[in-house]
Amino acid sequence: MLDLTSLKAPRGTQKSCKGWVQEAAMRMLLNNLDPAVAEDPANLVVYGGTGRAARNKPCLESLLASLKSLENDETLLVQSGKPVGVFKTHSDAPRVLIANSNLVGRWSHWEHFNHLERLGLMMYGQMTAGSWIYIGTQGIVQGTYETFAACGRKHFGGDLSKRWIYSGGLGGMGGAQPLAATLAGGVFLGVDIDPQRVERRLQSGYLDEVAHHLEDALARVASYRTQGIPKSIGLVGHAGSTLEMILKRGLVPDVVTDQTSAHDELNGYVPEELDVVSAVSYRKSHPENYRRMAFESMARHVDAMVDAKNRGAVVFDYGNNLRAQATLGGSLNGQGFKGFVPEYIRDLFCTGYGPFRWVALSGDPQDIYAIDEELLRTFPQHARMQKWLRAARDKIAFQGLPARICWFEYGDRLKAGLIMNDLVRRQVVKAPIVIGRDHLDAGSVASPNRETEAMRDGSDAVADWPILNALINTAGGASWVSLHNGGGVGIGYSLHAGMVIVADGTPEAEARLRRVLTSDPGMGVIRHADAGYPEALDFAKAQGIAIPMPPS
Ligand code: NAD
Repeated sequence: MLDLTSLKAPRGTQKSCKGWVQEAAMRMLLNNLDPAVAEDPANLVVYGGTGRAARNKPCLESLLASLKSLENDETLLVQSGKPVGVFKTHSDAPRVLIANSNLVGRWSHWEHFNHLERLGLMMYGQMTAGSWIYIGTQGIVQGTYETFAACGRKHFGGDLSKRWIYSGGLGGMGGAQPLAATLAGGVFLGVDIDPQRVERRLQSGYLDEVAHHLEDALARVASYRTQGIPKSIGLVGHAGSTLEMILKRGLVPDVVTDQTSAHDELNGYVPEELDVVSAVSYRKSHPENYRRMAFESMARHVDAMVDAKNRGAVVFDYGNNLRAQATLGGSLNGQGFKGFVPEYIRDLFCTGYGPFRWVALSGDPQDIYAIDEELLRTFPQHARMQKWLRAARDKIAFQGLPARICWFEYGDRLKAGLIMNDLVRRQVVKAPIVIGRDHLDAGSVASPNRETEAMRDGSDAVADWPILNALINTAGGASWVSLHNGGGVGIGYSLHAGMVIVADGTPEAEARLRRVLTSDPGMGVIRHADAGYPEALDFAKAQGIAIPMPPS
């Protein structure tokens, strides 16, 4: 019998599945649920509210058994965390195809999803939880760093030194904020309702210190700002009402954002009337009341953020759908500030630049360091990448299997993938490397309140793009491909696709890498070119990406 509180991916060079791709899927599924990686492994929750890796314990057992017996010319189908069939395909086809949390449009809302989940028919896959490529808080830290750094450049004429960043949520993804903010030079105050989450970030080194109460926190912020020392401070409290209290004192942070799990009003966001313990029982006993209280609390939270903006703070939505949820709670300020993608990330997406990541199946950190070295040698001209890889090596503790994230654009992702395959072939690294990415990427998401907010041509809600992304990655021979609903913003608010490809050092893997690592980021370029972004059109032309143009 599996003990859900002590799962761990096998390490080493011996596989127990019939091929390295199946072995990779099995190790990554278990890695997602490793207590060092997952936020709540006993409930199969990896991160992001209730983002799960498998529907329930029997489904997890069945997934592991299916991966063990899967042949090298078969494909396993997974429906919302449950294995539902195996078909004969061919050796270059994906070994696993995954669909999570998808609902027909009119039924695509939390009430219906929660009803189906209670019946045992669905699970919430978030983004990388249900597609088995979560790598812990590291997975988001570079993106968060890029966002804070862009914020510093755009609003403060450089970096964030001597600037005060205020945010809520120190969970699986939000826990990357303190480290990212200090890497960008700032002083960070992060408020989380759950003392255990604050403690976890402190233990993992993502957070520098914990304040005892608000006065203590504000004194620490003031002192570090004056001295120009980048430092992160955690505080237990409600993110919205703490911001109100700060503003009441006449203090205004330089930057305000939020990463509580606001996308899920029932299981993700704690209203200010409750603490983290009473929230657990109240959401079970009075779910409708709880949802109303959470919406209203989010309304006050967003009102406080707009108040901060009116007093001079830079305020942005950090991808948790807080603005739309606040509108449901009665706030008139749901349009009061923009999301982080149109503010800081869109121009990167135009060149297919996005969150590329890789994992060493050997379990040996030296494999990751060997890849770091090779990438530093291959891309000397990429100053941002050089800075990031060196900082990551110094400051980031691995969670579970050793892994690295590094944002790459179209062209460079393929180069990096081929380097990794070659390192496996030459046995410089000890076992195959798993290559994947976040679903939050250039051409894999339709999410009008996040990745596709305010598209130039108004195509924010067009969801054909993630579907095409999953289809082309399947056609190209990715190792596993997934299509999800909901992700970071909640049921009905987004569709998004994931892909993972294994570099096992063989010529067959090289051919698959060439196809998939071209078409996957290429989708980002064509999606933005189609929407009329001049940067994407120019980039596509320069890179020779074929875009058929209808006669005008
Ligand atoms: P998580 O569920 O692991 O953590 C959420 C945290 O919020 C928890 O620690 C919880 O205690 C805290 N919290 C809940 N209500 C609170 C309140 N009222 N005040 C203070 N703290 C409160 O989620 P996560 O993985 O950290 O993701 C956070 C949010 O960001 C989610 O909505 C997720 O979908 C979204 N997200 C954003 C990005 C991005 O790139 N911006 C990426 C992934 C996820």
